[in-house]
Amino acid sequence: MSDEKKERSIEEIGDDLVKAIELQVERVVNQYVGQEVTDELVEAMTLKLVSELEDMAKEIKPSIKPPKIKCIGCGQLIKHLYVPSEEPHRDCWSAAIVSKIFAGFGACYETNEYLIGICDMCVEHNVQLGRLILVKEGT
Ligand SMILES: [Zn+2]
Repeated sequence: MSDEKKERSIEEIGDDLVKAIELQVERVVNQYVGQEVTDELVEAMTLKLVSELEDMAKEIKPSIKPPKIKCIGCGQLIKHLYVPSEEPHRDCWSAAIVSKIFAGFGACYETNEYLIGICDMCVEHNVQLGRLILVKEGT
């Protein structure tokens, strides 16, 4: 067993899994908000959740370690929420945005790709300062 795995207890890993599953439940529920509650709807939601969890399970590869990424605003380490995938920008991160940014033509680093993280507190602060622009509000 590697040192990385010894750092986390089974309980901590379980807590992360619960959070990841809660996020999936929330996503599925949001897709059905406003609809009339029927047995068919509950069945459809359940099947959708199972499908989402199966997709999540397919992405899990225990050998992959999440990148250590710090908030670009305050420098705090952003916590990865469950077993990482090969695409960290699509993973669940605790109270933060982790995304990929691309350097377009004209930039000194044109065509480079970067992984960037910003915690929720810094998102709010930087939106107020106009340094971060909300392009689309989520559901
Ligand atoms: Zn921050």
